[in-house]
Amino acid sequence: MPDWLTHIVIAAVVGELFSVRKKSLLFFGALLPDILPKLVLLRLFIPLPALDYTLLSAFHTPFVLFLVTLLIAPLFRYRYKIVVALITLGALTHFVSDALLQHFSGGVALLYPLSLKHYTLNLVWPEQSYLILLPALFMYGLILIVKRENREAKNYGTRRTAKAD
Ligand SMILES: [Zn+2]
Repeated sequence: MPDWLTHIVIAAVVGELFSVRKKSLLFFGALLPDILPKLVLLRLFIPLPALDYTLLSAFHTPFVLFLVTLLIAPLFRYRYKIVVALITLGALTHFVSDALLQHFSGGVALLYPLSLKHYTLNLVWPEQSYLILLPALFMYGLILIVKRENREAKNYGTRRTAKAD
């Protein structure tokens, strides 16, 4: 997995591209696939029953995470469909950016439960996630600049027509 900062920046790029207003839901969705499988780390702080926690890795698949999203969406004080759509979009950015990496475990089971095949593009090692972060930061900055230029051009046009009237 790329580090969580990289996941957040990629989600921010997608949020700016689609002009998403509730970016927090997008960011939540971008981190959720990694948060749920790591719930087992709670045993470092509190005693947990001796169970097989490898099942938690199922949360790191798009299908299971979508089911979780359907269940947790009512917890948010926003329209249900929008919450589901934004968390799912954020999670998709997570799975796609995870698929860019080289994995020891074979990649991401993108089509689970239809297929157990793990997919990966084998582009960068997880410790090289700056190779994803830096272009993502550049794209984010570029999108912000272009959006600001467009907004200023629109405002300038509005002011000119208001002056002409
Ligand atoms: Zn991940």
